[in-house]
Amino acid sequence: MNTGKLIVLSAPSGSGKTTLVKHLLHKEELSLGFSISAASRDPRGEEVNGKDYYFLSLREFKDKIKADEFLEWEEVYRDNFYGTLKTEIQRLWDSGKHVIFDIDVVGGLTIKNIYPDETLAIFVKPPSIDELKIRLKKRKTESEDKINMRIAKASAELATAPQFDAIIMNDNLEHAKEESYQLVRKFLVS
Ligand code: 5GP
Repeated sequence: MNTGKLIVLSAPSGSGKTTLVKHLLHKEELSLGFSISAASRDPRGEEVNGKDYYFLSLREFKDKIKADEFLEWEEVYRDNFYGTLKTEIQRLWDSGKHVIFDIDVVGGLTIKNIYPDETLAIFVKPPSIDELKIRLKKRKTESEDKINMRIAKASAELATAPQFDAIIMNDNLEHAKEESYQLVRKFLVS
């Protein structure tokens, strides 16, 4: 059995966590591998199956829940299920990597609960709900309805921040990148 570590980045949608995850993945010395989640939503923009997500039908997703194939899963938005397959962590650990997750706050805390000592759970905080709205609109990847759904969820998500090991305020992307890098680097050598 291998003993890699787990890095969780969680945040409300639009907080910039995906940008930070990509930044950390480019740092080869950290030796991180991205945990590809399963998702029941359709691919967006340039997203690729098996790279950004394992895109499943709702039916396929529910079958995997029944078969107990998930470490954690959640209906993040109505009929949009997301989850971490048990095989995914093992796949990355077997390849000698530490695992980095881009997942929602509940999923992030679940991972932390399952692997308390191996996990660094980071909460990425947007400067404000208004700023979040602006970012989601700029992204132009979701309908107005979906944006509103994501914003409605954000307040509850912000309230979970104190349960994380660290909070990064993403009001300046360069600072947030450096801060996340330093946190992860220190955790991996500890
Ligand atoms: P999006 O549709 O914007 O890609 O993701 C929606 C939300 O689902 C984001 O907050 C994302 O981090 C979260 N998410 C992605 N993968 C997982 C997962 O495996 N488990 C959980 N619990 N949430 C996930």
